Parts: sequence; structure tokens; C-alpha cells
Amino acid sequence: MPTRIVVLGAGVSGLTTAYLLSQDPENEITVLAKHMPGDYDIEYASPWAGANYMPVGKKGSIHHAWERDTWPALQEITEKYPEAGIHFLGLFFRIARRSIAPLTALSDAIIYNRKKDQETATGQWFAELVQPNPWYKDVVPDFRELPQSQLRPEMDNGQQFRSVCINTAVYLPWLVGQCTKKGTVFKRAVLKHVADAANAHHSGIKADVVVNCTGLSSKFLGGVCDEKLLPARGQIVVVRNDPGPMIGVSGTDDGEDEALYIMTRAAGGGTILGGSYQKHNWDPLPDANLANRIMKRAIDIAPQLVKEGQGIEGLDIVRHGVGLRPLREGGPRVEKDEVAGVKVVHNYGHGGFGYQASFGCAQSAVALVEEVKGKKPRAKL
Ligand code: FAD
Repeated sequence: MPTRIVVLGAGVSGLTTAYLLSQDPENEITVLAKHMPGDYDIEYASPWAGANYMPVGKKGSIHHAWERDTWPALQEITEKYPEAGIHFLGLFFRIARRSIAPLTALSDAIIYNRKKDQETATGQWFAELVQPNPWYKDVVPDFRELPQSQLRPEMDNGQQFRSVCINTAVYLPWLVGQCTKKGTVFKRAVLKHVADAANAHHSGIKADVVVNCTGLSSKFLGGVCDEKLLPARGQIVVVRNDPGPMIGVSGTDDGEDEALYIMTRAAGGGTILGGSYQKHNWDPLPDANLANRIMKRAIDIAPQLVKEGQGIEGLDIVRHGVGLRPLREGGPRVEKDEVAGVKVVHNYGHGGFGYQASFGCAQSAVALVEEVKGKKPRAKL
């Protein structure tokens, strides 16, 4: 007997869940969404993300488990499917590919911590990431603490490890392609109520289960209306300049909810300069002053972004952007529900970590779908 499933939402959460569900030939899947890969909209967070793997889940939490369980999948996709638009980032990798340095010498992400940031919005967001001896040192390859001699005076500690950077403009369509190959049908629609999704399955027959991956919009979606959701506004500048390694800092001196990170996307996706972490701020338009500060900070921490002696005029801007991270008080909602007689599995509220927790969360959502189907959960995918 086939199981008819509607996945509501085509961001990284919906697409990753559909991707895993589509591995089971019993599942007949429709992905239904207002926005699809290729769209840029303030209601659609996924295209705006960097996106990288910089774990922030508190040690011992379910968030920690989701991020831990996502790394192997991202690493495997990076290694096996270059067309997916993910790479191990940085100058060091390119050198290694020319066999000048061994692969084990790669360390592409550099994180700096300033203890004075720990009470700020950005500092709290990055608290787990920047602390010495974090849990993820056993997950990512080539983790090492930076010696004091390699730190600027204002930095209290720092670390370096191998990470990935995802070109979201390539990766999201890649996920669509993987699902389509397995028979998943994609449809555009705007729904007012989550239960209505059950009547939109491509077979014309009512779906057995709806997987709700509507991100921040679950705040307003009928049958969900989750008041715990809030936006954490992220402003970015995409440039053609390439600094080499990926860099993140625990905070800035420009504002408690401003951030400093740099990452170059795979496959010509440009370099993302970030950012901000502005809670409850819904403004969809880039703030020119904030953009200036983002660019100045990036050049200060990575002067190699521009030619010697240049300032922000040396940056070759592709676009300014704003996305709203779907933050949820208490963490993402990955659970079963029943709304107006329709079985629903929720998978939303992933804040600033939707990519780096995508496979862990989607695996949990798939296990819940299996429960709805009355099956024992499968072994991990
Ligand atoms: P979304 O991408 O918002 O998708 C929601 C989907 O639901 C869309 O398809 C939408 O059209 C659909 N939908 C909503 N309501 C309805 C409706 N009523 N009817 C039909 N369809 C509907 N994460 C990382 O892991 N690493 C990073 O480096 C990173 N960097 C980021 C940088 C920025 C600037 C931002 C903004 C975010 C960043 N994130 C990062 C976070 C990440 O982007 C989000 O957590 C993730 O994209 C959320 O994905 P989602 O699929 O849950 O939601």
C-alpha cells in the first residue's frame, strides 16, 4: 500500500525531508509550496543562507544530536556529488587538490572568540561554537585550537576545523532533482490552513500525512499559529572577492546584534559577508549603514579580500540581501500532531541552523512519519 505524503514547504527543511522520504518507494510524495528554489523572497529563508556548518547546539541537547547527525550526510554529498554545490572551503583545499599539501592538513573554518561578547545576542547564538573544547571537535575533521601566537590581541581563543560551504542556489535545485528522480511531484500553492494540504496530493486522493516545513510562516498558518516563532533578521553582502578560508567571530563592537562572518560558496556562488542577528526585526530591506559596517568589518578581519591599501571600494558587490531566520523559543518543533482530522508531522523553527541540522531534523521527521504509518522506525539513513 502506498503512503501518500504532502510536504508543505520547499526550503531546506522541506526538501531534505522529501529527499529522505523519497528513498522509500512506498511513499508517494507531493511537495507543495508558495516559494520554490530559484525564488528570492523575505518569506523564504533558505536561499539567503551562507550556508555553512558551524554547530551552535548546546552540548547534550537534541539540537546537538541533529547537528552531529547532519555532518556525515553533508560530508558524503560534498565528496560524492560535486554537482550539489557544496565544497570544503578555502585556499587550503585548492592547494591540496593539486597535491601540494595532504588532505589531512585541511582546516577551512576559523572561529574567534571574544569573551566580552558572551552576553550579546550574537555571542549567545555562537556560545557553543566559540568555546574551547566544544562537542563538535569529535565530529568535524582536523579540529585544532589556535595557539595564542595566531590570535589577535582582542581574541581570547580560537579554533580551526574543516567545514563546508553550500551554494544554496545550486544545492536547493539539486535536492529538487533528487526528489523528482524518485517520483516526487512539485506543486505551487499558498495554503491558509495546514490541514488543507492533505487535499492537495497529486494523486487526487487525500494524503495520509502532511509534513509541515513552512518555517517562520508557521507563525501565521491556520492550524499551527505558533507564537513561539520570531524572526532573527540576517543582512548580508554577496561579493565576487575571495578571501580563502571561512571566518567567524563571536561578536562585533558595532552593535550587540551584529555579526562578523565570511564564507565563499561552492561553484562560483560568490563570497557571503555577514551579518546581523536582529531578533523581532521583520525589515525586508537592506540597511545601507549596516551594509557598510559589514563590509568594513570583513576587510578588517580578512584584508586579503581586497588589494593592498583598498577599503570597501575594493569589494565587487553582487547583491545586498536580507533573510529572516525562523527562530523558535525552545528550539525547532519536530513532532507529531493531528489537526482537523489530518495527521501532521511538524519540522520547522530552525533559526540560523537550518542547513547544518537539516539531515538530523529530517531523519527525526521521517521517523515520525513512519510512526504515523504504523511502522517501526527504520535504522538511521
Ligand atoms: P524556508 O526556507 O523559509 O521555507 C519555507 C517554505 O514554506 C517555503 O517554500 C515557503 O514558500 C513555504 N510556505 C510557507 N508558508 C506557506 C503557505 N502558507 N503555503 C504554501 N507554502 C508555504 N543555516 C545554516 O545551517 N547555516 C548557515 O550558514 C546559515 N546562514 C544563514 C544566513 C542568513 C542571512 C539567514 C537568513 C539564514 C541562515 N541560515 C543558516 C538559516 C537557514 O537559512 C534557515 O534555518 C532555513 O533556511 C530554514 O529553512 P526552512 O525550509 O525551514 O524555511
